[in-house]
Amino acid sequence: MDYLKGLNTSQRQAVEQTQGPVMIVAGAGSGKTRVITYRVAHLISKGVDPFQILVLTFTNKAAKEMRERIMKVVGAEAKNIWMGTFHSVFAKILRVEAHKIGYPNNFTIYDTDDSKSLIKAILKEMNLDDKLYNPNFVYGRISMCKNNLISAAEYNQNEQIQAEDFSTGRGMLGKVYETYAARCFKAGAMDFDDLLFKTNVLLKEHPDVLHKYQHKFKYLMVDEYQDTNFSQYLIVKKLAAVNYNLCVVGDDAQSIYGFRGANIQNILNFQKDYPDVKIYKLEQNYRSTQNIVNVANSIIANNKNQLDKNVFSENDIGDKIKITRSFSDNEEGKSVAESILQERSNNALNWNDFAILYRTNAQSRSMEEALRKLNIPYKIYGGLSFYQRKEIKDLIAYFRLTFNPSDEEAFKRVINYPARGIGKTTIDKIIVAADQQNQTMFEIISNASQHLDNRAALSVSNFATTIKSFAAVAKNSNAYDAALHIAQHSGLLKDLYDDKSVEGLSRYENIQELLNGIKEFSEREDIEDKGLDVFMQDVALLTNDDNDKGDNKDTVSLMTIHSSKGLEFPQVYIVGLEENLFPSQMALNSRADLEEERRLFYVAITRAEKKLHMSYATSRFKFGSLINCEPSRFLDEIDPKYLELDFVKKAPAGNPFFENERTQWQSKTSSSNTSSGDYFSKPKPPVAGKVKTTSLLAKAHVPTEGFTPDDTSNLQVGEEVEHERFGFGKVINLEGSKPDIKATIFFKEIGQKQLLLKFAKLRIV
Ligand code: ATP
Ligand code: MG
Repeated sequence: MDYLKGLNTSQRQAVEQTQGPVMIVAGAGSGKTRVITYRVAHLISKGVDPFQILVLTFTNKAAKEMRERIMKVVGAEAKNIWMGTFHSVFAKILRVEAHKIGYPNNFTIYDTDDSKSLIKAILKEMNLDDKLYNPNFVYGRISMCKNNLISAAEYNQNEQIQAEDFSTGRGMLGKVYETYAARCFKAGAMDFDDLLFKTNVLLKEHPDVLHKYQHKFKYLMVDEYQDTNFSQYLIVKKLAAVNYNLCVVGDDAQSIYGFRGANIQNILNFQKDYPDVKIYKLEQNYRSTQNIVNVANSIIANNKNQLDKNVFSENDIGDKIKITRSFSDNEEGKSVAESILQERSNNALNWNDFAILYRTNAQSRSMEEALRKLNIPYKIYGGLSFYQRKEIKDLIAYFRLTFNPSDEEAFKRVINYPARGIGKTTIDKIIVAADQQNQTMFEIISNASQHLDNRAALSVSNFATTIKSFAAVAKNSNAYDAALHIAQHSGLLKDLYDDKSVEGLSRYENIQELLNGIKEFSEREDIEDKGLDVFMQDVALLTNDDNDKGDNKDTVSLMTIHSSKGLEFPQVYIVGLEENLFPSQMALNSRADLEEERRLFYVAITRAEKKLHMSYATSRFKFGSLINCEPSRFLDEIDPKYLELDFVKKAPAGNPFFENERTQWQSKTSSSNTSSGDYFSKPKPPVAGKVKTTSLLAKAHVPTEGFTPDDTSNLQVGEEVEHERFGFGKVINLEGSKPDIKATIFFKEIGQKQLLLKFAKLRIV
């Protein structure tokens, strides 16, 4: 039982309490995930069959890491634990049971693109305005319903929902939902939310199936329980209802998926559902320095809705949190990249000791550009997944159609790709015929002559014959042989091969990469059935994060804060701390939304182990135009005694331009009446309607009206100038000779800069 030594008293108690309901609510970095990992290892060491353990994690990556750690304690037995995300685990179960609820067991999984494309098609068929019925909005609405287990029928019968829809002029939403659900069903397809929704239907309508899994899973554990939605909550509750060996861990302060229907109440109500629950609190944070923990505590204390929780660290006090201001997003990228270079060499770190976290995916561009310029290797997590690239989706659509010819989205994707002369009119006719005859599109083209004129009928029946021949080949070959056959005989490989552009080449390589992956799968020894259909089962659930390739490489990690949940890095950069970006503009309408945004900030801060950097830009390109940005209100919520403002430190003593800022800074620091000791006891009580202190963090420079650059070839040291973007400054040094004179100027807003005079847009004041 050596492994138990790596746990503190409460962690150990939670690990050893293997029977009955257990809940651990604790702050970030306090070892919740570690407790689950050790608990599983402990169960197996005590003789529990790994096949009877179900562990639900938030990402596949987390599951993979956990399995590896358990393996170290109990060996290869760990392979047999049921462990993964809700979606992957229940997709696996539905692969066995789906026929009981009328789906083929080899149902297709529609990804978000497929779902939205289907919604668009339905809106068009129903002649609905796609501005009023924005497909994203409709998709979100349907998703929310499914996560709350509201079926289309219930939606249409619910008077309150109907009244609401009519009042917003969207009275047809229920009909759209109904059609969408019917079309997915007809296509033998489930969307992401269906994987949980239909699992609930299965468990409700088939008590024998429920009984089977209730007895199969003797021990259940759920990580990140605060982010489960109703649909997930109910599955867990039902599965645990026989053995009651359910252990959930979570942190209400890290609940960040409310917008997707996650309900923080699940964690708050756990005690009501299981009155004899054993609750453990973990208070020591083992991940981060004291400064980082204190900053996190001081931020979350601004939220009204939170459980009283105490988090402290006994690690080093650590460096202060560094805040950097840049005048543009590109400059911000540059400063982050340069700082990573410096930190890496100063502290002998690896690239993978660094993470850059942002609020929105779009922010990765400026970071990527800057990293590339300095040759810093990086990997984006959670970005466009390999499996979401067009060429990959095209080939996969052929695979999908091979196994499930009813799959409508796959059908539409490849019926005329590569081009085989099947035009839009023909496709529209097929859609109409399918609807009238209540057949699938594939059934229509299998009897094409009944519905289409000769020429069109010939091309589509050739297509149908090709797909049927793929099915015959796939039946008798391993995954790789089948995939290669389909890639070749669909014409797709040739089409990409013929495209000699750079993009064409990279698309061709991506297909090769996919085929290589399938080859590896075909050669695996641990699975019996190596058919392409088996390979296909989970493809739609894979994300970029699961792409093993980058994991072992030494790279800087880039990701949104949402995808950083549960992870940790020695050094973290949180970028784009600006109003309307973080907090997001969409979060400013209600206290609840703003609090979720603040929890997101808390998650970001608590990813850092040793050093935390934050930055913001005073201007940024958004939707193609340059806008001025204000620093985030969250920065003002941090007690300044934990901060080091990069741009203030840069100011040389005695420079008159900085007097104002320095005085403000000093008064803010000294007026702070919280001693660091306060944070070790209770978090500060929530501050109602917190008064915003004057921000130290200034706006971008707006040039004086009528600004025109002067001839500065005779500029003198000591002269005061105005720069178009950097604002007012004073010349402190000149070097070089005309016309290549370089001037060193102290700018009031951004500190020292060296400029080549012949290019600089300066006005002498
Ligand atoms: P989060 O809320 O961010 O998911 P968590 O509560 O799940 O955090 P873990 O990831 O389990 O926390 O632990 C944080 C770090 O602290 C990990 O590196 C873990 O190995 C380490 N740790 C946890 N408990 C101990 C302990 N008793 N001794 C040493 N290290 C520990
Ligand atoms: Mg965790």
